Amino acid sequence: MKYCSHCGHPVSLKVPEGDNRERHVCDNCGTVHYQNPRIIAGTLPVFGDRVLLCRRAIEPRLGYWTLPAGFMENGETTEQAAARETFEEADAEVDIHGLYTVFNLPHISQVYLFFRADVIDGRHGPGTESLESRLFEEHEIPWQDLAFPTVARTLQFFFADRRAGEFPVRVEDITAYQRKP
Ligand SMILES: [Zn+2]
Repeated sequence: MKYCSHCGHPVSLKVPEGDNRERHVCDNCGTVHYQNPRIIAGTLPVFGDRVLLCRRAIEPRLGYWTLPAGFMENGETTEQAAARETFEEADAEVDIHGLYTVFNLPHISQVYLFFRADVIDGRHGPGTESLESRLFEEHEIPWQDLAFPTVARTLQFFFADRRAGEFPVRVEDITAYQRKP
């Protein structure tokens, strides 16, 4: 950040009084520009015994398969964000059952939340950010072509938990070292 979003003057990195880390502070109006982690909300959409994935039409990871998920917008709840992203990316309306996985990605300052959900009437299709959408049985999951570790971990948890018949909330940290190229 170089310029204040309030008044347009240059900002400096400094530790504000009473704070303990450097922030971008406006040299003119004094506004402190805090930067905090971003939340990505999505769903694990299920229809019968199949899981809905979509193939990304945008970078990063263009062409790879993902669960529908995206950045929360201001003014919405996490469940609303997850349902909206599912509609935008997979053209599917869902009934959300509850929080399922939480991933901390401190190296990129992101938090992922996935909710378990049922696809209403099994209807889906590629949204504007997707090349295609498809319902997969467990043995059909394209494990080598998944877009993100958060997606792979959520699917691994899901198939194991489905066999056990319970879906406890799973919280996991994913560090830079676990990322696959
Ligand atoms: Zn300013």
